[in-house]
Amino acid sequence: MIDSMSSPAPPVVAILLAGGQGTRAGFGQPKQLELLGGKPVLGWSLDALAAHPAISNGVLVANDDVVAAAGPLPDGWISTAPGAERQQSVANALAALADWQDATLALVHDAARPGMTAGVIDRLLAALQTAEAAIPTLPVPDTLVEQAHDEAGDVVDRSVLARVQTPQGFRLGTLRRAHAEAVEATATDDAQLVRRLGTTVAAVPGDARLHKLTYAEDMDILSGLLGTNVMMRTAVGMGYDVHRLVTDKPLWIGGTEIAHSHGLEGHSDADVALHALTDAILGALADGDIGDHFPPSDPQWRGAASHRFLAFAGERVAARGGRIDHLDLTIIAEAPKIGPHRDAIRARISEILAIPVERISVKATTTERLGFTGRREGIAAQAAATLKLPEN
Ligand code: MG
Repeated sequence: MIDSMSSPAPPVVAILLAGGQGTRAGFGQPKQLELLGGKPVLGWSLDALAAHPAISNGVLVANDDVVAAAGPLPDGWISTAPGAERQQSVANALAALADWQDATLALVHDAARPGMTAGVIDRLLAALQTAEAAIPTLPVPDTLVEQAHDEAGDVVDRSVLARVQTPQGFRLGTLRRAHAEAVEATATDDAQLVRRLGTTVAAVPGDARLHKLTYAEDMDILSGLLGTNVMMRTAVGMGYDVHRLVTDKPLWIGGTEIAHSHGLEGHSDADVALHALTDAILGALADGDIGDHFPPSDPQWRGAASHRFLAFAGERVAARGGRIDHLDLTIIAEAPKIGPHRDAIRARISEILAIPVERISVKATTTERLGFTGRREGIAAQAAATLKLPEN
């Protein structure tokens, strides 16, 4: 029998993992910096861990720019650099905690789960009075089936399955041994490394609020779960741009160089499509136009690649706590044909703004040989940007 009254409770340290780049799913910046209820996602976990009375110290594992964006660290916290994989990031944190005794308790948490509660921490610490490791799990409420391609197969017995969350709790010495003996570096959590030692991992009830931020849509789910529902409004902006066709320039349209007899003339690379998109986004933000932010009179923008202008507009959206819901671009040109380049242009815009390609429409039209575009004197582009922005 464990006599927990006879010895003082071991100290508890936290390891907060915020090293992922997380830009794959429609975030204009690392997802741990997205604003949730006016606070960066990682700040939710950081504040909850620092506020728990049992936790005295912590390590934030993140790149310098993320650490800087998170603001001043709580007392007793330090930061260290992430590794290429999650497992290496935890190993880096363990190295930063080298002075702590093996009996210390460590909570390892992914910053992409901002809904940290004191209750989960309490349940883990209670389990660690007797267990070497403890994790929060949730039951699987849905019927589960095997699936191959589009065909549903046999039902899987979900009564023996559970969803695993973080934070996960360990005796520091056990966590150290698990990492020291890990052969591969691809573990998606630490409990599986501990189990490879032959050590039992206790399961305690998790919390639905620990929902993981993976896709842009998860921000809405988390806002609801955390009661931070920021009222969002829809804002639409329009952009329009024209550049003259000349014989001695390359043709850049939509961040893509297109082989053609003529190219567009301008101060920058004259990418008429990216300029229209940039103005559409700035328009939805009511944040001036491309010329205000990148004056043609400024020599530093001579010949500039226009993806910088578009990326800047995307950063302005993120800085407001907003997101780009949809972009619709029309290129008005007699030649060249845009159709063969449409998917490359959509992919390039998706890459520049880190938004899914499904949210980007690219269309083209001629003007039936009428007007300046019809006479092939220039190319025009118009764009509409639909944003979601926080009410203020
Ligand atoms: Mg322009």
